[in-house]
Amino acid sequence: MKPRLLTPGPTPTPEETLLELARPVTFHRSSQFRAIIKEVTADLQYIFCTTQPVLTITASGTGAMEAAIANTVPVGGKAICLISGRWGERWRNICKAFGVTVVEVKVPYGESVPPEALAAALKEHPDAAIVTATHSETATGARNDIKGFAAITQASSALLIVDGISGLGVMECRMDDWGVDVVVTGSQKALMLPPGLAFISLSPRAWTRVDSLYQGPSTPRTFYFDLRKYRDNLAGNDTPFTPANTLVRALRLSLKRLRDEGIENCWKRHARMARAARAAAGPLGLELLAKDPADGLTVYKLPETVDGVAILGVLEKEYGIRVAGGQDTLKGKIIRLAHMGYIDYFEVLAAVSALEMVLPKFGHAVQPGTAVSASQRAFSEGA
Ligand SMILES: *Cc1c(COP(=O)(O)O)cnc(C)c1O
Repeated sequence: MKPRLLTPGPTPTPEETLLELARPVTFHRSSQFRAIIKEVTADLQYIFCTTQPVLTITASGTGAMEAAIANTVPVGGKAICLISGRWGERWRNICKAFGVTVVEVKVPYGESVPPEALAAALKEHPDAAIVTATHSETATGARNDIKGFAAITQASSALLIVDGISGLGVMECRMDDWGVDVVVTGSQKALMLPPGLAFISLSPRAWTRVDSLYQGPSTPRTFYFDLRKYRDNLAGNDTPFTPANTLVRALRLSLKRLRDEGIENCWKRHARMARAARAAAGPLGLELLAKDPADGLTVYKLPETVDGVAILGVLEKEYGIRVAGGQDTLKGKIIRLAHMGYIDYFEVLAAVSALEMVLPKFGHAVQPGTAVSASQRAFSEGA
């Protein structure tokens, strides 16, 4: 059977990137590697829509999230955490681990945080040092209005820190134009690489905050994630510690793909696939969990009669389709189908077709071909 990886991280890796990963390990303090760092940094700036340096950290995405918090808020400082699911909760948990006082702005799973709720929270807490947000809430498939958030934080002294881990390279996010202060992402989603690299970029005013924190009485308590080290080394196309340089070499090829396509086209491609995946929901007799869905994944709610854990096993064992289920309180209740990065429409269609065949085995009747054809129509109309 041919395995098809359709989970919202990790995602599949293109062939040329895989071939690069198979090449011999090289030394990283070399002019060749510095040239690669220079090239990938320029391409990352293009993807982030920023002229600021984009720092590459050897860590999973959470490493960059931790770096963002550790370097921008002092112990006892205040964070407004916009929470629409598990990943928004991760920001809150990191803040707590660093002794940051958290103000939660929370919506039920499936909903997005309205910018007005941020405006109200900032009004009540004008002393907030940061606001954390999640572009694509991968736990529920909801999209958050980063542009709307940034319009509010821009007029305040709070920095807007965005988890773009399943959003960047999928949906429009213009760091400089929108005035987002910190954007983080990871390698294993839209960037089409294996897990292992995290990326972070900071606005000029965020850097001012970082530098003043290190000079002040409440110096950030971090060594590996001291972002000044990454910035200062990057000025000479170097890294402070041994980077996962094999992954960085592979990154060069994935970014080249995105460059060749063009970032706007990349956003359009994801939007079109997302519409086609959502169009399957009705004929499958499933609802979408997200009210305002993100474009990198589609989250279908399962009826209570369907065993949401067992169905994942059948999809994988009998059809080779690996999708993700829910986490925590959503476990067994949803199916998360990814369509980001190196996943094309025909793989999404394969998953839709497999769902048509598998759902009836779980007592949920579906008319064969109806979801597939609805999806195809949506895809064609989106051309
Ligand atoms: C996948 C994901 C993460 C997790 O990052 P790790 O690489 O597992 O540390 C965080 N946030 C979002 C929105 C994600 O999709």
